[in-house]
Amino acid sequence: TRIRVGVVFGGKSGEHEVSIESAKSVIEALDRNKYDVMPIAIDKQGRWSAGERARRVLEGGWATLQAPRTNGNVVTEGNTGDDVFAGSVPEQGLQTGQPSVIPEHVMESIDVLFPVLHGSYGEDGTVQGMFELLNVPYVGAGVAASSVGMDKVLMKRMFAAVGLPQVDYVYCTRNEWETDPSMVTKNVETRLGYPCFVKPANLGSSVGISKVKSQAELRNAIDLAAKYDRKIIIEQGLNVREVEVAVLGNDAPKASVPGEVIPSNEFYDYRAKYLDGESTLMIPAPISDELTEEIRRLAIQAYKAIDCSGLARVDFFVEKDTQRVLINEINTMPGFTKFSMYPKLWEATGVAYSELIGKLLAYAIERAEERR
Ligand code: ATP
Ligand code: MG
Ligand code: MG
Ligand code: MG
Repeated sequence: TRIRVGVVFGGKSGEHEVSIESAKSVIEALDRNKYDVMPIAIDKQGRWSAGERARRVLEGGWATLQAPRTNGNVVTEGNTGDDVFAGSVPEQGLQTGQPSVIPEHVMESIDVLFPVLHGSYGEDGTVQGMFELLNVPYVGAGVAASSVGMDKVLMKRMFAAVGLPQVDYVYCTRNEWETDPSMVTKNVETRLGYPCFVKPANLGSSVGISKVKSQAELRNAIDLAAKYDRKIIIEQGLNVREVEVAVLGNDAPKASVPGEVIPSNEFYDYRAKYLDGESTLMIPAPISDELTEEIRRLAIQAYKAIDCSGLARVDFFVEKDTQRVLINEINTMPGFTKFSMYPKLWEATGVAYSELIGKLLAYAIERAEERR
């Protein structure tokens, strides 16, 4: 019998669109001889739809569902969730106009979930917690690893605890910034200097990140990051090459060959990642064998440091002047289109895209069984 896989995509984060692209690739690659596929879409307000409606989102975007509906005097946006996976489950509506989650009758028809979700409410342990409560296996890191991996400050502390080398940083809350901006500025200038990078602590795809070269820019950059998160991290800006490693597995994780990113912009911002198509991925990374082995070893160490499972992409900096290797971050649900770094690194290491998905589903089931 075929394994029934729910592929969850979209979501409330700034990486909604990226998630949809990743999910399209995953669904296309799932071997229909082995798997039944149930698409599950989450809109930007956090409302879930399963089955046919979700499939329509994949094909035509949310606009295809959003013909305004008249409901008495109230006009509501689409999403009644009234059709689910063809034939296999009864039809039943989801609630509209408020966050809703996947209905029970949909969950009963699923063996394993693949949350192809990036960023908050997807990659940060929140949906993972719900899946634990529902007792359904899911691809990727558990609750703690997901939330620590999403929070750049907590992540750095875990990395520091096992001695991983990283850039100097400071952080503040939105509240601290609003109450005493000169204290934050002074902290940045005495401990880091310019250039520095300002980031929302919990995000991805470079959303809300700025490279800052002066005090005036610092103010704007922190204001921007504070729009996305209540916690802001500021890092020393280094002159670096960027090398990434894909890690796969549960208790005995393996590291792929490293790849290098050559961003098309001054840094690897959202535009360079997704929009201009001009950034280059060099796989394997053109670095020495020694550096390759060091980076792969550090990637496994980082994975274990946050108690990760399933998969993660670990991003490193190699300082141009000194060749010093520093860990930048771990991503517990990295971009997963066929053209994304994570699958391409495995392909170069000998694991093809659809085989990779099969392994991830198997690791999800293995992990759930071990926790029972
Ligand atoms: P991802 O999409 O990989 O999850 P993210 O939003 O978590 O990205 P980072 O990887 O922390 O963001 O940073 C995005 C990019 O900004 C890096 O790939 C790099 O180009 C640049 N960058 C970030 N921090 C630094 C730094 N301290 N020094 C130099 N460049 C940096
Ligand atoms: Mg990241
Ligand atoms: Mg990310
Ligand atoms: Mg990154």
